[in-house]
Parts: sequence; C-alpha cells; structure tokens
Amino acid sequence: MDLKSGYPYWTVKNGLLANYPALREDLACDVVVVGAGITGALIADRLVRAGFEVCVIDRREAGWGSTSASTGLLQYEIDVELAELSAHTGEADAVLVYRQCEQAIPALLRLARELGKVDVRPMQSLYYASRWHHRSRLLKEAALRQSHGFDVRVLDRAQILDRYGFEAPVALLTRLAAQVDPYQMAHRLLARVVRRGGRVFDRTTMASFDAGNRGVKVRIDNAGSIRCRQLILAAGYEGQRLLAQRVARNRSSYAFVSDPLPDGPGPLADCLVWESARPYLYVRSTRDGRVIVGGDDDRIDLPIKRDALVALKVEKLRKRAANLFPSLPLEPAFGWAGTFAETEDGLPFFGPHPQHGSRVHFAMAYGGNGIVYSQIGAELLCARLEGRKHPCDKLFSFDRLNRS
Ligand SMILES: Cc1cc2nc3c(=O)[nH]c(=O)nc-3n(C[C@H](O)[C@H](O)[C@H](O)COP(=O)(O)OP(=O)(O)OC[C@H]3O[C@@H](n4cnc5c(N)ncnc54)[C@H](O)[C@@H]3O)c2cc1C
Repeated sequence: MDLKSGYPYWTVKNGLLANYPALREDLACDVVVVGAGITGALIADRLVRAGFEVCVIDRREAGWGSTSASTGLLQYEIDVELAELSAHTGEADAVLVYRQCEQAIPALLRLARELGKVDVRPMQSLYYASRWHHRSRLLKEAALRQSHGFDVRVLDRAQILDRYGFEAPVALLTRLAAQVDPYQMAHRLLARVVRRGGRVFDRTTMASFDAGNRGVKVRIDNAGSIRCRQLILAAGYEGQRLLAQRVARNRSSYAFVSDPLPDGPGPLADCLVWESARPYLYVRSTRDGRVIVGGDDDRIDLPIKRDALVALKVEKLRKRAANLFPSLPLEPAFGWAGTFAETEDGLPFFGPHPQHGSRVHFAMAYGGNGIVYSQIGAELLCARLEGRKHPCDKLFSFDRLNRS
C-alpha cells in the first residue's frame, strides 16, 4: 500500500532525520512494536519509560508512512461532535472520550518539550458553522460541552468577522489545541527509545507472526525472527490487513502548504480553523509563516487514483481557503495526499482482537484526530501490559463491534 503521494511538507522540510539499521539477526525482547510512525513511537517511548525491553520495526524509513502526510493538528474535539457521539455511545462514554482527548493535548505538549527540538505550539481552535442550518446544532454542541466543563466559547457573526475576517453564522472557540510537526516528533521519540536501551530497525518488514500461550514469534521478511512476550501492531492503515474482520474504511485526504506569507499568517498565527461541513476544510499556520490547508477527503482507496487527483484537489482547497481569507496570498508550494481510515463511530481501536489472542495488541489510532488518540493509546497499552486498568479499555476495544 502506498500511504502518501506528492510532497508532504514535513519530509521536504526535515529530510531523512535518522537512519536505523535493518534487522538481520534473531532477537528476543519483551515487546515488539510494528510501526515507527507517531503511534508506534509514542507507544515504544511509553513502554521503555515503564521499564519494558522494546524493539520497534518498520518496513519503511521511520515516520515515512502516513505520519509524514499528517498536518499535525491536535484537538480535543474529535471529528464526531460530542452530541453525535453521545447518541452513539451514551453521554457518559462520549464525555469520557472528550475528557481523555482534553488531557492528551497538554500531555503531548509536555512530552514534546521534554524531548526538545520538536516544532510544537499551543494554539486556539475555531470550529465555524459552514451553513446557516448548522447554527442551532453548534449552539447545542457548545451548551453540551459547557455543561461538562469543556473550554468552549460561542462567537457570533460580528465577532468572527471582526477577529478572523470571514463570515460564518456562528463559531465555537476553544483555547485548548496545538499544532506539531508529527514526523519530527516521531523521530525525537524514537531517538529517546534508543538512548534508553530500546532498539529500532527500519526497512524491516514483519512477514507473519505466531502467537502462543508463552509468547509471540515475529518473522521478518528475508531475515530471522524476534521472540517477544507481547506484540503491538501500530501498523497504521495497513494494520487492517492483519484482521479478517473489517473494522474501518480507508479514505484519502489532501493538503498543501503555501509559500511563506510576506506579512505572516494573520489570524492563523495562533488559531487552527475548521468547519462543520463534512468533509471539512481545515487551516493552520507553520512556524516559518506558511499556511497549511487540508481536507476534501474522499472514499478513494487506490493510491494511483489518489495521486492523479493531487493537483486538482490542491487547487480546490486553495480556492476555498482564499474565499475564507481573501487577504492571505495563498500560493501552494507543496501539495500531497495520504491515506487515513475512519471507523463507524469515529473511535480508535487499542487492544487485542479475538482472532490473535491476548498477546497481540492492535494500535489503530484511526480518524482525523489520530495523534491525540495515539497518545491515549500509548497510556492504555502501557497500563494493559502492566496489568492496570485504563478508563478507555472497553470503549476502544474490538468488543464494541459485537455490541452495535
Ligand atoms: C493528509 C492527512 C492529514 C492528516 N492530518 C492529521 C492531523 O492534522 N492530526 C492528526 O491527529 N492526524 C492527522 N492525520 C491522520 C494521521 O495519519 C495519523 O494521525 C497518524 O499519523 C498515523 O500514524 P501511525 O503511526 O498510526 O501510522 P503510520 O505513520 O502510517 O505508521 C505505521 C507504520 O507501520 C509500518 N508498517 C505497516 N505494516 C508493517 C509491517 N508488516 N512490517 C513493518 N512495518 C509495517 C508502516 O511502514 C508505517 O511506517 C492525517 C492524515 C492524512 C493522510
């Protein structure tokens, strides 16, 4: 599977940040993590900090999967509004998910600062009503979030125009959000894993695995094998191939980064902006004064079809963003597309699946808010391996597929 196409900004900006060896020998360790994207890196770092002996493998260069295509928005508000999620899971569970996401953002900021040399910034996030008939829905959403103590303010039409320079019937503003360079953060995490005794191998493909009562044997393509007590599959959107049951659907998403703006990104300097229509448009800035515009997701699951659309989609995104912010001269410098996946309820899967038994744990941080989910998942899987409970154990497990 080709996970991305075009020129994802982070790989252009950073280049190859590190080389890891390819695995050529037999090994043994406590935990093998398959996948050196942001999900695998967060999990490996958490487990090494907890004292596990960890080995990370990736078939590509580290971070070169969909992590490099991610635009790095960190929000507690997931793609599914709290009211809609409540209708699906019940209000208590929906609030639990939002609360976990709310806590994951400061945790990610702390982690990035601790690691150093990670381009990360706290931001505000503005969620505007794309259409007049979304207005009452957003007002109800704001009231529901406020009733549970989430940080959200309602801005009316005049306030949006005054502060952000565009027209929308209503918008929800929160001070709890952030933006990150996820590719850089994955590399900084992996470097710390190695410093603390973990091992990282790239260009190393898991061909198959055998899970038994006493452990798991992971076979490496064209090389030996790794014996471990627990296997974590943080294989991104390719992880679905390891399950007979379909648990998510692949989508394609598109983005571009502009040339640096001579007068800076204006209202986007400290605010992420996204909208209530689906698929949604979203906009953020970068530290060097560029603007990243993304969205226009579609159901395309064939990389070759997705690749052919990048130029067209970039032009469409540019026009929409220029309509919203006519004063910003948005000239696309690099455009790209990537695969992501959506689950039925918008929630991720973390934990074992009955197909492979209790020693094989999936880490499927699926959805537009994947990095925030990955952070929660790292805590959840660490708790599981240490024999502790996590508040989202049940909610993020495969069991919920049998309940619906
Ligand atoms: C255009 C776009 C924009 C996005 N924007 C955002 C955003 O703003 N915020 C957000 O939170 N999320 C966003 N996402 C979602 C984003 O993709 C995820 O949040 C996250 O990057 C996924 O990371 P991952 O580590 O789970 O997957 P990946 O980065 O794909 O990592 C999985 C790794 O597993 C490896 N692997 C797979 N199979 C094997 C095997 N058999 N053997 C060895 N290695 C294997 C792959 O090579 C890959 O490197 C966006 C996605 C796209 C496409």
